[in-house]
Amino acid sequence: MIPKLIADARKIVFKFGSNTLADKDGRINPVFLEEFADQAAAFIKTGKQIVIVSSGAQVAGLSTMDKWARKRDLHYRQALCAVGQVELMGAWKRAFEKYGIHIAQILLTGDDFNDSIRTLNMRNTLFTLVDEGIIPIINENDTVSVEEIKIGDNDTLAAQSAILWSADLLVLFSDIDGLYNKNPKEHPDAELICEVRDIEAVKKNITIGNTNSFGTGGIVTKLEAAKRVIPYGISTIIANGGRPRVLEALAAGTQSGTAFLA
Ligand code: ADP
Repeated sequence: MIPKLIADARKIVFKFGSNTLADKDGRINPVFLEEFADQAAAFIKTGKQIVIVSSGAQVAGLSTMDKWARKRDLHYRQALCAVGQVELMGAWKRAFEKYGIHIAQILLTGDDFNDSIRTLNMRNTLFTLVDEGIIPIINENDTVSVEEIKIGDNDTLAAQSAILWSADLLVLFSDIDGLYNKNPKEHPDAELICEVRDIEAVKKNITIGNTNSFGTGGIVTKLEAAKRVIPYGISTIIANGGRPRVLEALAAGTQSGTAFLA
């Protein structure tokens, strides 16, 4: 099913979690970004269009301002994201530069999606960038995202962005191969669920465990993201961004994941 979903989709939103983007030391992994850029460039040559939702500002900030690691104060955390966002975009820029592809930064808050004029502006900007062959890279605007206006996790942001851009497919990359019947990090015998048609039904049959170090959303927000986009005809894939040449492998059917069918 996944190869068909990818083959049929022209407009794809890819979301990367911090765990996928960072290496073991908590630094943004340039080799990973390069490998994705290489595959994305090949996709674009075949006529596909791409939008990226990228976490990782805080992780990138921490490796730049390591003396702030213990600061828990909200303003320091926001400041850390402001520093890290530059590092993050620098890493993405270098990754795509080699292929002659420009990237653009879009920072959004929950409020932006509640305002029809802002929503229209965001939509028009997204369409313009993509039409011009530029890859928009979206993240939450942590500097202004106090609790009241926070989207809170990039799975939700990716879902909202996919709807806004009228995407055909949403791909959520994590550090696990997909949705399992129980947390694969705690249970080695957990079984991968390859296809989901009824999210509520599947939720009743699985257990959800703790998430890992950098992630904020966990598997629950991924399920909610899929549930949010499906009424708009957007199918969703959860896959392991850490697998070698994952995009090609998913498209070829040599790598499994979980497909939520719209
Ligand atoms: P990301 O940062 O990539 O968005 P998270 O770390 O927030 O991802 O969430 C994914 C994590 O959710 C996995 O690493 C896994 O340990 C955990 N998890 C808990 N229960 C499940 C489950 N039933 N199936 C898959 N993953 C699960």
